[in-house]
Amino acid sequence: MGGKLKIATCSLAGCFGCHMSILDIDERILDLARVFEFNKTPLTDIKDQTECDIGIIEGGCANSDNVEVLREFRGKCKILVSIGDCATMGGVPAMRNNIPIRECLAEAFLSGPTVTHGIIPNDPEIPLMLNRVYPCNQVVRIDYHLPGCPPGADSIFSFLSALKEGRKLDSGKCLLK
Ligand code: SF4
Repeated sequence: MGGKLKIATCSLAGCFGCHMSILDIDERILDLARVFEFNKTPLTDIKDQTECDIGIIEGGCANSDNVEVLREFRGKCKILVSIGDCATMGGVPAMRNNIPIRECLAEAFLSGPTVTHGIIPNDPEIPLMLNRVYPCNQVVRIDYHLPGCPPGADSIFSFLSALKEGRKLDSGKCLLK
């Protein structure tokens, strides 16, 4: 395996807590930096993505923009990892899944305790809310899941260390040769 592995990260309907957990790796991130090169990620504010070896996705799909971003991200990542409960199973945003979308919008914009304007936003520029929140694996193929809210920094570090060393993971796949 020659050269550094390109890694990208992205957030959909999440709270960036999983990204904070990546940062909680602290100084061990320097070990990872010897073999990984960050591509598009909010951690470095690099916005343009090229083809990557590994993609890490936080958050599920709550609107049409999330779906579009996830599909594009999948298309540019050889291995796609969903981290956190939002990406793997919908998480906190999916708590709305048992409530009709109409009622959710009414509570948020018409009758909720923090409402000030009383209008449901309808500008065509705003991404369309989906009828429910979907975990990433219901939209694209996901190679590995790392659950938790958020997954601990130690778990993320162990996982990335296994990837960089090409160790066999629980799925039985040896990811990088
Ligand atoms: Fe935030 Fe938890 Fe969702 Fe991660 S899994 S994006 S920490 S709510």
